[in-house]
Amino acid sequence: MATKNEVIIVGAGVSGCSIAYHLARRGITSQIIERESIANRASGKAWAIWEYPPSVCLALSLVSTESVIPMLTGAEFEDLRAQMLEERQSMIDLHWIGYHRLPEAILELQERGGIDVKYREFPFFRIALSEEVAKLYKESLSAIRSAGYEEGGDWLEPDELKTIFPNINPQIKGGMWFPVFKVEPYKYTLCLAQAAEKMGCTIRSGEVVGFNSKGTRVTSVVLASGAKVEADEVVLATGPWTGQSTSWLGNELPVEVHKEQCVRVELPRPFPPYGIWTTRGAIIPEYDNKVVILHSFEGWPDLVTNFDSSLTEQSRLSAIEMATNLFPGIEKGTVVEHRGDLECWAPGMEMQAVLGRHPEWDNVYVASRFNTFGFALSLAAGQLMAELIARGGQAPYRVKKLLEALSPVELKAGKG
Ligand SMILES: Cc1cc2nc3c(=O)[nH]c(=O)nc-3n(C[C@H](O)[C@H](O)[C@H](O)COP(=O)(O)OP(=O)(O)OC[C@H]3O[C@@H](n4cnc5c(N)ncnc54)[C@H](O)[C@@H]3O)c2cc1C
Repeated sequence: MATKNEVIIVGAGVSGCSIAYHLARRGITSQIIERESIANRASGKAWAIWEYPPSVCLALSLVSTESVIPMLTGAEFEDLRAQMLEERQSMIDLHWIGYHRLPEAILELQERGGIDVKYREFPFFRIALSEEVAKLYKESLSAIRSAGYEEGGDWLEPDELKTIFPNINPQIKGGMWFPVFKVEPYKYTLCLAQAAEKMGCTIRSGEVVGFNSKGTRVTSVVLASGAKVEADEVVLATGPWTGQSTSWLGNELPVEVHKEQCVRVELPRPFPPYGIWTTRGAIIPEYDNKVVILHSFEGWPDLVTNFDSSLTEQSRLSAIEMATNLFPGIEKGTVVEHRGDLECWAPGMEMQAVLGRHPEWDNVYVASRFNTFGFALSLAAGQLMAELIARGGQAPYRVKKLLEALSPVELKAGKG
């Protein structure tokens, strides 16, 4: 059995850094290899919110299906929603692991990493701007309740919402709310990396371009400089580049690369300390109460080819348009930042993450396709991956089924 002294993690995004941190907590040292810098890609640019898990999976389905609603009868839509909840059960389970752990985990992480990650908890409102969407949200709320999820928020009528948000568009038709958590993405990822480093992890600059192997084990990682790094275990946490990194070992993991963008606006007055989401975008208060981040749903999130992460003027404008439609007063704000980057999704924009041992290689693991939830899933991904590696690839009984559902089986020979 490997000594696990040399767990090589490729990628210093939130996934790779969380895996290194959780390995370090178990006394297993690792080396992260990153070609840019810590959290330089999506992990430094996210809003970094942790949503209430059942609402995440259901509400996102609603956003993506709103355009087909008029074509479906009530019963057909109910079937579609039931099917979505069932298909996404493993993702909901994965979300729960981190969601329940986060408040305590943050305290330990900040102490170990020495950075204030700007952690907060606040209600997040999903606001309906039409009767049709209000009906849909109410039905979704009752579907969440009848699926057995009793925690979380409730339905609010337009008058109740107008009391909370006095400047909101008077046309709103009501909304539901759920609790969310938020961190500052760069600080959180850096804190994971720093905490891991203090416990023995090393972070190395370099671009991985291939692997050397013997039998069904990878023996070393090859860098663009020509250097070889000995490896007992290898974890691919390469985000949107996971198709590429897995292809060096045989089959390529099917991924879809999407681009997500947002703008940050500084307001003359504090914004209520709550998040707001409509089917056209979201407004999230930042910790200083003066700044909000807006997000556009225009083609959200854009499917891209050739890893094109350039920011678009159209996205900036439609984000502002969405916000001014919801809060006419926001016009008086100043855009202080426009940011965005690439996310890794399963084909067809499915939310199916992969987390587990490569089916063809005894000492290679893959943690990817965290789509628009890489932060919300980071604690669970780090914890389960560290546990899996510590147990030589054997899944613990309590999460055996979950890890089976997330296993990168598409990488099996003959499946590609
Ligand atoms: C605008 C925006 C808003 C978002 N909001 C949220 C949110 O509110 N909540 C949430 O949970 N998620 C959110 N996300 C999604 C989240 O940011 C991602 O899911 C997450 O950052 C993915 O992390 P990762 O570590 O898997 O990938 P990445 O952050 O992409 O990191 C992968 C790293 O691997 C490195 N790499 C790749 N190939 C190689 C190689 N060959 N050699 C060396 N290094 C390599 C890359 O340089 C990169 O640093 C948002 C994303 C965006 C863009």
